[in-house]
Amino acid sequence: MSDTIGSHPASWAGKPYREIEELATSDGSVLVVPVGSIEQHGHHLPVATDTILADAVAKAGAEHADDSVPVLLTPPVWAGYSPHHRSFGGTITREHGSLRETLEEIADAALDNGFDALLLLNGHGGNASLIDSAVSTIGVDQPDSEVLGLTYFELAEPFIDEIRESEIGGMAHAGEFETSLMLHLRPELVHDDREGTYQEEPYDRSQQDLFVGGPLSVYRPFEDYSPSGAIGDPTLATAEKGARIHDRLGDAMGDLLERIHEENR
Ligand SMILES: [Zn+2]
Repeated sequence: MSDTIGSHPASWAGKPYREIEELATSDGSVLVVPVGSIEQHGHHLPVATDTILADAVAKAGAEHADDSVPVLLTPPVWAGYSPHHRSFGGTITREHGSLRETLEEIADAALDNGFDALLLLNGHGGNASLIDSAVSTIGVDQPDSEVLGLTYFELAEPFIDEIRESEIGGMAHAGEFETSLMLHLRPELVHDDREGTYQEEPYDRSQQDLFVGGPLSVYRPFEDYSPSGAIGDPTLATAEKGARIHDRLGDAMGDLLERIHEENR
């Protein structure tokens, strides 16, 4: 898989403008804007992990969706809301409000081309509330388009127990889940020093890892969870698990793109 901007057949960035307009004005057209972050991911994963994975899942979805679905993917928004990672270094965070405004501006300009639907595809837990806000504000400004938002790893919730080996708390930040995906997609970027700490939250009703938890919101800088910055068990990660997760995510994402297309034609 190439990482070059515009190299994917569904990439907005690789097309001349008339092709973009033709696609955007097709019946039931869908635009996907991946949103990531640049933040520490422990000693073993690159800081762009969430951006790389949101982009990869968008591409996998476009590949799994039926060829009749007119879908385009913008380049990923590479900086997210990550103040809780900043003490580790390597983090470039946006302000919550200005990132939401950036998403509104991108949506405004992009939807002008005639898309019927927009999906903000998020790769970073710290962006999740911001994505929800942006869906609400863009939705108000764009009454003629369907405006949707999703944090991609939520798509794995129905099947992840078939794949995971870690206990609760092992699939969190740079743990078994993200490290497996990176070993499959970008193994050259994964380092050997896989030091992680299982997520431990004192409140049962707050998030216990990416896939387990309750509704209580908590703010904690990540140095409170883990000395390395990695939360979970990256030592259980394998490329084989990553391939299975990637394929299932692509399948789920493809189904969602088809559904959005059908709903908006
Ligand atoms: Zn991450």
